[in-house]
Amino acid sequence: DISATDVRGYKGHNMLAPFTAGWHTTDLEPLVIQKSEGSYVYDVNGKKYLDALAGLWCTSLGGNEPRLVAAATKQLNELPFYHSFWNRSTKPSLDLAKELLDLFTANKMAKAFFTNSGSEANDTQVKLVWYYNNALGRPDKKKFIARTKSYHGSTLISASLSGLPALHQQFDLPAPFVLHTDCPHYWRFHQPGETEEEFSTRLANNLENLILKEGPETIAAFIAEPVMGAGGVIPPPATYFEKVQAVLKKYDILVIADEVICGFGRLGTMFGCDKYNIKPDLVSVAKALSSGYMPIGAVLVSPEVSDVIYSQSNKLGTFSHGFTYSGHPVSCAVALETLKIYKERNIVEQVNRISPKFQEGLKVFSDSPIIGEIRGTGLLHGTEFTDNKSPNDPFPPEWGIGAYFGAQCEKHGVLVRVAGDNIMMSPPYIFSLEEIDELIIKYGKALKDTENRVEE
Ligand code: PLP
Repeated sequence: DISATDVRGYKGHNMLAPFTAGWHTTDLEPLVIQKSEGSYVYDVNGKKYLDALAGLWCTSLGGNEPRLVAAATKQLNELPFYHSFWNRSTKPSLDLAKELLDLFTANKMAKAFFTNSGSEANDTQVKLVWYYNNALGRPDKKKFIARTKSYHGSTLISASLSGLPALHQQFDLPAPFVLHTDCPHYWRFHQPGETEEEFSTRLANNLENLILKEGPETIAAFIAEPVMGAGGVIPPPATYFEKVQAVLKKYDILVIADEVICGFGRLGTMFGCDKYNIKPDLVSVAKALSSGYMPIGAVLVSPEVSDVIYSQSNKLGTFSHGFTYSGHPVSCAVALETLKIYKERNIVEQVNRISPKFQEGLKVFSDSPIIGEIRGTGLLHGTEFTDNKSPNDPFPPEWGIGAYFGAQCEKHGVLVRVAGDNIMMSPPYIFSLEEIDELIIKYGKALKDTENRVEE
């Protein structure tokens, strides 16, 4: 029996732990983090941990970046709050909108709408798309297609878009207008002898069949993370986005890129869309937009969509949507400074400088008898534990292999994300090459501990 119930914080239902902000689903003591310093965080007992998940995939510039603290302080002194409703705004929110629109170059974007989170950004997407289709006189084009294993947030609608069963169970979700198509995980789902390209073709065909079955006139948009994050860090197979986008274009279905994790350098390109040649109509961003220092998200809207919305708003009434803290001046000031730092430090180059060592160093563990797959790109990593190196031989869930590994990482001073038998990492961009070495050594120790436990 390899039950991990003795290990604080990792009880097997940790899948839900990140989604239970404010309370914990275990009866065990939480790990209480008190301060951060560069790539490290410290708990209340003074124990030091490498923060291999960058908080929750967000603190890209690590702990205590003084310029972000200064930007927040300056803005708090000058104007801690004013709203962005009606024809009011603040300078930081206008400046940030401009910066974001300039920074996103995979497709032209014309407008930015600010939210407090990635979930709110994705909820906003649904309203924007519905308004757009109403403005075009096709109110029945309402359905959204997302993918199984995707994660798009925790509100009712963003959780509906998400393709993780735990987010639906007990909540009467997904909402009826949300459909899910295949998860593009080649290792897990390819058929014998099928190449990545053939797998992508099959998935694009399945998507087309779903669209035809539902009626193309009822499908409004497709939403996707360039690399799936919380579902286990799943990069797309070769030619996937090319083929999927061709199908969507054929049926006049909008493309929404959820860049909440991939955006701002994480994959070694400024956005995930740049890496996979995705031409979205709408984009969601959050997390690294402010390096996680202040809550903020945004939706970027293409001119084609925003022109329709603007031109019809007299007829349909304004796009009545917004949050008190949309475009919060302190969040915007911090995000502006974050983007400035990304530019000055050439963050994309920095990620490309350190990520090969990160990826190659972890790939070495692929030979472990308890690892099914090691995957990732840029500064995103996923490990999946399975028996016999097969996607079809999971370890018994009650063994809690992922949980045990996560606990050993914590023991050795590394914080990772655990979801069932999946391990995920997304280190801050400021990791030094020495810190990557340290991470890999500690990962190796935790793996050895876990292999020993399996053998017992
Ligand atoms: N979209 C993606 C891809 C995410 O990974 C997340 C959060 O992890 C969200 C949306 C939701 O963002 P938030 O937690 O800020 O609401």
